[in-house]
Amino acid sequence: MNTVTKLTTRNVTASKRAGYGSRLLFSSISRPSIAFRTQLCPLRFNSTLPPTQRAAIIRKQTGPIEFTEDYPVPKLGYNEVLAKVLYTGVCQSDLHTKNGTAAGGDGKNITAIKLPHIGGHEGVGRILAVGEGVKGDVRIGGLVGIRFISRICRRCEYCLAGQEQHCIGGMTNHLHHEDGAFQEYIALDGDNLTLLPDDVDPVEIGPILCAGITAYKCVQNCNIKPGEWLVVIGAGGGMGHLAVQYARVVGARVIAIDGGDHKRHFCLSLGAEQYIDFKTVPSIVDEVQRITKGGAHAVVCAAGSPRAYARAADMLRIGGTLACGGIPPGTPHLETSIGTIVIKGLKIVGSLVGSLKDTMQVVELTRLGRVKPAIEVRPWKDLPKVYDELERDAILGRVVLKIAEDE
Ligand SMILES: [Zn+2]
Ligand SMILES: [Zn+2]
Repeated sequence: MNTVTKLTTRNVTASKRAGYGSRLLFSSISRPSIAFRTQLCPLRFNSTLPPTQRAAIIRKQTGPIEFTEDYPVPKLGYNEVLAKVLYTGVCQSDLHTKNGTAAGGDGKNITAIKLPHIGGHEGVGRILAVGEGVKGDVRIGGLVGIRFISRICRRCEYCLAGQEQHCIGGMTNHLHHEDGAFQEYIALDGDNLTLLPDDVDPVEIGPILCAGITAYKCVQNCNIKPGEWLVVIGAGGGMGHLAVQYARVVGARVIAIDGGDHKRHFCLSLGAEQYIDFKTVPSIVDEVQRITKGGAHAVVCAAGSPRAYARAADMLRIGGTLACGGIPPGTPHLETSIGTIVIKGLKIVGSLVGSLKDTMQVVELTRLGRVKPAIEVRPWKDLPKVYDELERDAILGRVVLKIAEDE
């Protein structure tokens, strides 16, 4: 089974006649070496794959995005599926990783990433090939999500607790370790597949897989009750506009904070009851305290700016919860005093995306039409412009890039 033959598209037909069958290896790229990735033997194919593909790469952090046509198509390993990427959202984490300013769990910037780097972790793909060893009902032609988390150990205490996004047993992700969705084809771990229902819209489901799940977990961590006040900071952005909707699903009264009248209309249309324009209000803390008569029960910070976090906890009433979802670039810190936290009995919680189970719950909410991502579909070549707009906070909701045709 380990015997492979390197073929080009021109000699695939001849090779099939020669009996190579499905044991085709088209190309190789370096990915993390994990023991179970050693065998190469696709079991089922529905099409002939090219040896190379289009990809948006950066050769070094802070470097420009380059579109290349000759990036190798991933080889299909044991217990993997190969998917064609149809659409992907563009997340702030993609931008910060590219810039070398993404903050890690140790508070330092993440600089140890695979190069060339290919971002994209809000992807939706169509399964083209299923490798040997893949268990369960995995169909060629089915839709699959491309999330932040790529591979997990399934044995560490966090995996066993259903918090596999915190896996400490060699977890890899599609941001720092493996190529993401800014390429036409991707290989995915057969044991960690995000199998999507056939009746979801592949155009809109991508943003649910990072922005959506993060917003959902933030709202869930607030333990909010119907009728209580929940503030969303950065409510007009990719994560924030979904947090507004999840908060409405659980019956919260939502105060949206963002800048500009276009975001006011947008946030109110999503179900926010109040809108505070941080660009025009002298003190957003005073405004929240006034509206809520003593502070909000919860604040979800979906903004990726240090300034947004600075006084976020000061908006809370006694016993309130600050849920941190957005990660500002660099190494910023909360400025809330310890006295405030202790005396007001505040809770501060973080959310690193969510588990696969959580993810499927948010996918279902969108499938049912309860939460709808506001998306703008743009051509893939716009990626540099989209990064620029993200930096200027000029995007309403989420931009989704069209990567490849769904044939
Ligand atoms: Zn993300
Ligand atoms: Zn683990």
